[in-house]
Amino acid sequence: MSALLAVQEVSAGYGPIDVLKNVSLEVGEGEMVALIGANGAGKSTLLLCISRCVRQTSGEILFAGRITAGLRPHELARSGVAHAPEGRRIFPRLTVAENLELGAYSRRDRAGIARDMQSVYEMFPVLAERRRQAGGTLSGGEQQMLALSRAWMARPRLLLLDEPSLGLAPLIASQVFEALALWNRGGLAVLLVEQNARQALSLARRAYVLEQGVVTHSGPADKLADDPRVQQAYLGA
Ligand code: ATP
Repeated sequence: MSALLAVQEVSAGYGPIDVLKNVSLEVGEGEMVALIGANGAGKSTLLLCISRCVRQTSGEILFAGRITAGLRPHELARSGVAHAPEGRRIFPRLTVAENLELGAYSRRDRAGIARDMQSVYEMFPVLAERRRQAGGTLSGGEQQMLALSRAWMARPRLLLLDEPSLGLAPLIASQVFEALALWNRGGLAVLLVEQNARQALSLARRAYVLEQGVVTHSGPADKLADDPRVQQAYLGA
């Protein structure tokens, strides 16, 4: 069976020099895959490239068997790819509830949207308490929960997630990871970029290590977590 997402020998960058060099990676249907690597390795660039915000200079990306070159970012989003970029990209003047509704803007199943909003509120009670409050008045951690939940409200097949725990208190980070694990069990495929490599490897089924734009290791997450080179570079061993 073909992968849900297939990145095939992709190179990309912002100028004459490629940041990504011949990167190949796959995410299966309903699979959680982690992408780890040092600052500046090109992880965010790869997610931006997959979501069609950065153009590849060579190689091919396929989503659900379809070549994505030629699709605009919103067309790809409509076909089932949600991107929650680094930083809390919420609409600060809209309420929490309005932010969540916007996540679901391309859906028509009103009952499903209401049910999903309810499940977000159950998962993150603080968002329920603040549902009528402007998003911009939330704390950083709460905005992160909102950004993630808004991406999920689109009910994508694949979620591209950039550093969801960055700057979060440990308790809030663990709530975010619980939500991710739950959604993944429900069938959501996730490509997870995460600075907390230990956490990422414990959540994901498979993982890739990106070093200076090149995939240097890949395999089952538990095997990578046992690899001395990965331990030394990313797990503080
Ligand atoms: P971090 O964890 O620090 O975000 P990363 O692995 O996600 O790192 P990227 O953000 O993809 O890395 O950056 C890879 C390289 O591309 C870096 O050298 C960075 O300076 C450069 N870069 C990123 N965004 C741009 C941009 N908009 N214009 C030019 N260069 C950029």
